[in-house]
Amino acid sequence: MSHKGTLYTVSAPSGAGKTSLVAALIEATVGICVSVSHTTREQRPGETDGVNYHFVTEEHFLGMLERAEFLEHARVFGNLYGTSQIWVEEQLNQGIDVILEIDWQGAQQVKRLLPDTLSVFILPPSRLALLQRLTARGQDEAEVIDGRMAEAVEEMSHYVSSDFMVINDDFQVALEELRAIVTCQRLTTDRQRRIHGALLDELLS
Ligand code: 5GP
Repeated sequence: MSHKGTLYTVSAPSGAGKTSLVAALIEATVGICVSVSHTTREQRPGETDGVNYHFVTEEHFLGMLERAEFLEHARVFGNLYGTSQIWVEEQLNQGIDVILEIDWQGAQQVKRLLPDTLSVFILPPSRLALLQRLTARGQDEAEVIDGRMAEAVEEMSHYVSSDFMVINDDFQVALEELRAIVTCQRLTTDRQRRIHGALLDELLS
């Protein structure tokens, strides 16, 4: 199916700055939004239900799964995460670009279902920087951080299947690079044709 908007997946290991970068991208760019995933993981301090995630019980999540309401889903760090299919389709059909902040498993599922999806991988500038960012969050215990460091390496090993790669060393540079990806995609002839069909008809009449 050909949508008017573009679907992006943005994947990264925890601590690479993905959420802050995506939030800044949305803030600085018109016509793009981020999908709020459903998850069974516990709400962290500072998180808001319906904003960061839809926090649901495992029973609720499995019900949605059974009703085929997810575009993709995955178990990450023992918790279930999923993307609402209908919400994403609605945005794309209106010509709004949608970002899915999801793990590599979800990104691969989405790419199989919707091959026009563009996948972006965000990586930290070094292993040390990643460790420092994980520690600085101060929301998790030491053993959780160790576990996430190991998971981060696993997540990063899947960078190779993505279309774009951004290294988040300088935040502003990384943000500009993300914006460049979106701008570039909006200028492709295929996308311009879908947006400016009437103009092209008029110009060529
Ligand atoms: P966190 O619990 O730290 O917010 O996220 C843990 C991991 O789950 C991150 O890699 C994040 O990208 C991923 N994640 C969040 N939402 C979804 C989703 O809807 N689907 C999938 N597949 N992964 C998700």
